[in-house]
Amino acid sequence: MPQTYFVMFETSPEPGSAIDSRIDGALAHVWVLESDPTSAMIKASYKVRQAGWKIDKVETQPVAVDRDDFKNKDLGLKSFDECQQDGLSLVFVGYTDAEELHTDEPQPVPVVSEINLHEWLSDQKKIKDGGKCLFYDVTESCCEVIDAHSIQRGQALSSIDVDGYVYSPSLSFGDIKKSKGKASFARTHINSFSTFRGLCMFHDNLVFQAIDNAPLKPTDEQAFLYAYRSILKQLSAKNFVVESLRNQLSRFSGSTATRAFMENSLKGNGMGQQYLEREKSHFDESHRRGNFSDIRYVFFRSKIAPTVVFSGGFFPDWGFNGEPIQDLGDFTGDRSSMTFSFAPTEDSWGFLFAWHRSSDEVCRYFISTLQQSIREGQNLGNLLFQLVVKGCENTAFSPTWIEALNDDQKSELIEAMTYGSDLLKAPDGSYLTGGLEAPPDWEFTGVEDNLKRKNSA
Ligand SMILES: [Zn+2]
Repeated sequence: MPQTYFVMFETSPEPGSAIDSRIDGALAHVWVLESDPTSAMIKASYKVRQAGWKIDKVETQPVAVDRDDFKNKDLGLKSFDECQQDGLSLVFVGYTDAEELHTDEPQPVPVVSEINLHEWLSDQKKIKDGGKCLFYDVTESCCEVIDAHSIQRGQALSSIDVDGYVYSPSLSFGDIKKSKGKASFARTHINSFSTFRGLCMFHDNLVFQAIDNAPLKPTDEQAFLYAYRSILKQLSAKNFVVESLRNQLSRFSGSTATRAFMENSLKGNGMGQQYLEREKSHFDESHRRGNFSDIRYVFFRSKIAPTVVFSGGFFPDWGFNGEPIQDLGDFTGDRSSMTFSFAPTEDSWGFLFAWHRSSDEVCRYFISTLQQSIREGQNLGNLLFQLVVKGCENTAFSPTWIEALNDDQKSELIEAMTYGSDLLKAPDGSYLTGGLEAPPDWEFTGVEDNLKRKNSA
């Protein structure tokens, strides 16, 4: 259960920040809803710096507080209540030698930042708690959206967790900044890992029973459902990004450079959203008719206990030898989509590529570049592992495995996890070549597919 922590810092304006230059310093009062004092401290100090202030001293370490502590303090009470609403509230009480700024009462200094983080955070929370059921036939039950798991908790996550926890890549704005532009590992409970608010309970159960309650054989239906769920999760995440960007832009009043960057980002994400909606409509149509044979899959079987589980999808851009596959900068044509999933089997697990027949041409070519790479002596496990780490945030690592890695292995993994997170960096056509050293369980004993099926319709 999160509780309210109060933290206080002595701060001074960061040189070059937008804070009134006549202000010498301020006491930053922070109320933050967090699960523990350490997380409270990290979040509070990050937000203070983000607002343009340098922390000179920690005045009060995080202490748990309740509403009564601020009973007779207007500003304190207001901030405490705001924090319950938005998860965080900040008040800077400034001091200055400039006479014209002097007042009888201590005055809060406005929080200055190009993007209003306070609004932004509360926005994120509102959108995240919202969501909608993306199933094609809307029924009354659809208003009860749940935190649907995109990776099964019972069959998959619980096979690698330690005390209910796994490690996953964190590419959140805050964590990236903290780790100096790199991704980092977040310790996450399997109850909340990889969930998305894109299905109601009724449709989640109805549609995905055949994979949630049975190991992969594989059948067409199972492969179809793994891919379908990946598309729903991707679309749900994209909807979230687009809505959040729209909200931010609607009240943005910062520099034109930042506005242009945000508008560009909205345009790119909006296109991605359209492509995913089109992809989903192909799956919807097949599902409605019960045409599971519209799925194409390639399945690599392993017999060793897993250490990494994942579920992702992407628009293939480059092959495993750097072959150009689709130009993602070109928004004029259609776009083909590929999914890949960890799938539990009767005797262990396997790696499942699956795509709709409408994406067949591109995806077959993508798979052929994998075959070519293996013929040239590359290791299959390493190639697939690299694809997962570079192409998919929705990945959980076994804590036992991560903690046993040496520093070099760890930084190599972090480097790969960071790929794609820098929005200003051009895509690298060779990102799938070579291969990252995979965990020992990425050894495959067999491959099965249904590619003999030709597109007739
Ligand atoms: Zn529904």
